[in-house]
Amino acid sequence: MITDKIPYNTRDKDGKDITQTIEVKTYPTVPLDIVCPLCGVTAQTAVDIKDIVSDNFTDWQFIGGRHVCAECAKMFTFYRYSYIVNDGRIRLLNIREMAQEIQKPQEPPFKIVASVSQKKHLFYKAVFNNDSENFYANLEEETILCNLEKLREHFTFVGSLQALGESKKRLAEGVIRFDILEFLSKHKLAQKALAYLKQELKTRQIQIPLYLSQKPNITQEEAVCNMDSTLNR
Ligand SMILES: [Zn+2]
Repeated sequence: MITDKIPYNTRDKDGKDITQTIEVKTYPTVPLDIVCPLCGVTAQTAVDIKDIVSDNFTDWQFIGGRHVCAECAKMFTFYRYSYIVNDGRIRLLNIREMAQEIQKPQEPPFKIVASVSQKKHLFYKAVFNNDSENFYANLEEETILCNLEKLREHFTFVGSLQALGESKKRLAEGVIRFDILEFLSKHKLAQKALAYLKQELKTRQIQIPLYLSQKPNITQEEAVCNMDSTLNR
């Protein structure tokens, strides 16, 4: 069961760390025998999705019916958030927490949703995973296949370049600033870094750190050392 109140760590307008309490919405139920199209439970009451969503709602094919169980209906509360769901427990995670948590093995069954727009219902587009090493995570609407070890490698690569002053936006475009390449060439890493970036951008997984990664608090030497172990393995 998803509890009624869920903590969410965020920052206030002055940048101070605070914990908000998110109230989970409960929607009116109607008496109706259903097999919930989202989770498969049988229930004698149901929530009419038309009571939740606007007339512009276009995701009917992802739900597969007009009514869902009361428990699944609660998930409509969370469109503003990124979260990990394990078996009826939901953790709302800010971007910094998600960057950490997605690099840890999760306990199956689990579902990972990283919201970019904070405007869309995504829970019914993400899948439950039974494997902690190879799993799917949703980055907004895209369901991306991840390998945990490779994902950590991508976070290390992106984070090291952020520490050297590169932006995620430029990395996403497949480019690295000239002065950073010059610095890396002293360690014989410039060409390898560019080749690695171009290669990995052909996969979707690197998009996850390209959205979530936070500039790590490491020295240039540590960044070079990380790059070296990633690129010369
Ligand atoms: Zn359900």
